Amino acid sequence: MLLDLLGLADFRTLATDEQKHHFHFQVTPIAPPLQCVHCGHHKLYRHETKLQLFLDLPIRGKRVGITVERRRYRCCACRHTFFEPLSCMDERHFMTHRMVSYIQQEALRRTFVSIADEVGVVESTIRVLFNEFATSIQPRFPDDKLLYLGIDELYLLHQYRCVITDVQNHHIIDLLRDRLKPSVLTYLCSLPDTTKERITVVCTDMWASYHDATREALPHATLVVDKFHVLKLFSGCLETVRKQTRKSLTDKQRRTLMHDRFLLLRRAHDLDEQETLIVEAWLNNFPRLQAAYHLKEAFYGIYEAPTQEIALQRYFAWLASITLDMYEAFLPLTLAIGHYGDAIFSYFTYRYTAGYTESLNGLMKLTQRMGRGYSFEAIRAKVLLTDGLRKTSRPGYREQQSHDASPETADMAVRTALAMARPNGRGTPLPTAFTAPATVNEGNSKSSGSP
Ligand SMILES: [Zn+2]
Repeated sequence: MLLDLLGLADFRTLATDEQKHHFHFQVTPIAPPLQCVHCGHHKLYRHETKLQLFLDLPIRGKRVGITVERRRYRCCACRHTFFEPLSCMDERHFMTHRMVSYIQQEALRRTFVSIADEVGVVESTIRVLFNEFATSIQPRFPDDKLLYLGIDELYLLHQYRCVITDVQNHHIIDLLRDRLKPSVLTYLCSLPDTTKERITVVCTDMWASYHDATREALPHATLVVDKFHVLKLFSGCLETVRKQTRKSLTDKQRRTLMHDRFLLLRRAHDLDEQETLIVEAWLNNFPRLQAAYHLKEAFYGIYEAPTQEIALQRYFAWLASITLDMYEAFLPLTLAIGHYGDAIFSYFTYRYTAGYTESLNGLMKLTQRMGRGYSFEAIRAKVLLTDGLRKTSRPGYREQQSHDASPETADMAVRTALAMARPNGRGTPLPTAFTAPATVNEGNSKSSGSP
């Protein structure tokens, strides 16, 4: 009796052959079909038998091919012919369903070339399988009654991509191909109504496309400009003042200012005694720096306001304190606040921030680590399936065994270990039969009568 290495309950193994790089199994389906696949009629005539080659998961690091002796039937009622159905096989790709899902999972973390070499198909097959998988992945919105969405961007594979996040639970919901209004609008509009209704707040930056798309697709949602983005713009204005001040300095002073600029950007109450002295020296000698420094402290004070009303009062007081010579340097900020004021001050009602920038930073680092060769689809799939590329690893085999005592799970572990076995040779040539899975041609088939 042959050892059941395949573990496919639908088949009886007729022959096994082990070669240097592959295993080959010849099998026959155990149970004939009970009814016509077209009309459901029960009376069927047996027709010809054909040999069809399917690929399966590697065993002991060798590629696996399964030749199925597959019968055709003709229905007595509708006269149609059909091959007996094979529930464990993917008939489009001529491989087992378990191999399809193995390839798709592996493609999330390995190169297509290495998987192709392991399982014995061409690289393009891996690509096709992965693309089918990647495009079928749907975003996961949390079940919360109210949704707090973040819309931000990320520079990824040579262009800006829009990132949709859940700012309340700090996770990434989706990644869009670009950050342009048509893409964002289409995305938001295509969300199910039940999801749209739950979106209460949209936390974003000052990119007009996001605001326009949100207003059109989610008119009921409150737009909030994230504090982080406003403070970033503010720092840019301070930098302008510092650069203007540099012009009146000696070379030595310039180098020192370059060194001390971080102290000037830090909050006054965070400086130690020594640092305070350094800052004071700069401020006393350069009135422009002093004016900018006081504007900085007052601006940060706005974000410490307990309510939106107090924040607005502080902002208008701050605006009035800008002197004429500072006016131009702070123009980008004052214009932005004029334009996005409602959303900027909504922050004081819905204080959503930090969480999603945190996960974005993590995402950026991890996509950099993923390196070259990954498509946008691959990164999106990976991000969505691993919740922002959170690292997942399987427990060691011995570790796993001590946890699972049941025979069923132990059997699973053995099969997984077999399935995960790596090929033993590098650059081994692909056996030709394994590179183009297809129906075995007429000449080799055990044909009995024409269809
Ligand atoms: Zn029929």
